[in-house]
Amino acid sequence: MEPKNLQMIQREKMQASMPQEILPTSNINEQGNSLAQNHIINITKALKEKQTKQVVWFDFELPSNGKCGYPKEIKLRELTTEDEKILIKEMFSSKENSILNVIRKCSKFENIPDFNFENLTTFDQDFILIELSAITFPGEKNISITDEANHKITMKLNKEELSLTSVPNDSEYPFKVITPISNITWYLNFMTLKKLKEIDKAIKSLSADILTRLLVSISLSTEKVEINGQNITFDNFYEIVKLLDTLTPSDLKVIIDFYNEKTGAAYGYKLNKEYYCTECGKGGVMELEPLNFFRITI
Ligand SMILES: [Zn+2]
Repeated sequence: MEPKNLQMIQREKMQASMPQEILPTSNINEQGNSLAQNHIINITKALKEKQTKQVVWFDFELPSNGKCGYPKEIKLRELTTEDEKILIKEMFSSKENSILNVIRKCSKFENIPDFNFENLTTFDQDFILIELSAITFPGEKNISITDEANHKITMKLNKEELSLTSVPNDSEYPFKVITPISNITWYLNFMTLKKLKEIDKAIKSLSADILTRLLVSISLSTEKVEINGQNITFDNFYEIVKLLDTLTPSDLKVIIDFYNEKTGAAYGYKLNKEYYCTECGKGGVMELEPLNFFRITI
């Protein structure tokens, strides 16, 4: 299965939705009354008909590559006008899970009808959001960045400029890292939406400095810990936090670096954009966050 590019998606969308005029073809309403074509009732009806497009599902391959307990093949469909309206309403009422609700509606795994989308890794969620944005609002984006001299540079951005890194087929999962001094083998999973919620809950009961948050995150991502090939048993995540806290700073650094570089942050879509500033006559490459430009909301 080839990942689709935007031109293909656009073409398929054009074919799926036959060209329609906004003005209705019939000017007879349900009651049999003849109304002018430009009567508001006819216009509203025609607009609604135009918005109820045929749903087209597209195939994608998630960057987690089937390593995280769910398949790599996922089907996505563009957001309907109704989905967008619901999303905007939910976001305005700051309803929790509004983004997750969109993902639930517009994504499906074949043969897993009751999949809990909170089990997605955070980079798979970002991937889905970017793809949903790209199929719902295809075409070039106008973006603006600010260079070091604080000059505003406006540029075009295409979806094809994003680069995708997937978990390699041959990589062991959960990932393991061995601390050099204490010789503890640490098995780590990717961060998921469910775990993020657990972390938020856990942090509320602790002093929430950055290091604590990081240790709680590592602890909740820990699949198992071994010393000399023996499983270390533990009852709750806080015991793992205490174990991390007991390590020497150099051992702890090995785990933190591994966690930061080799787990979630390494995968999914990245955007390195070349720019040139006419004011300073200088250019370069800037790393940008794709989700800032590929949004599913207005
Ligand atoms: Zn400049």
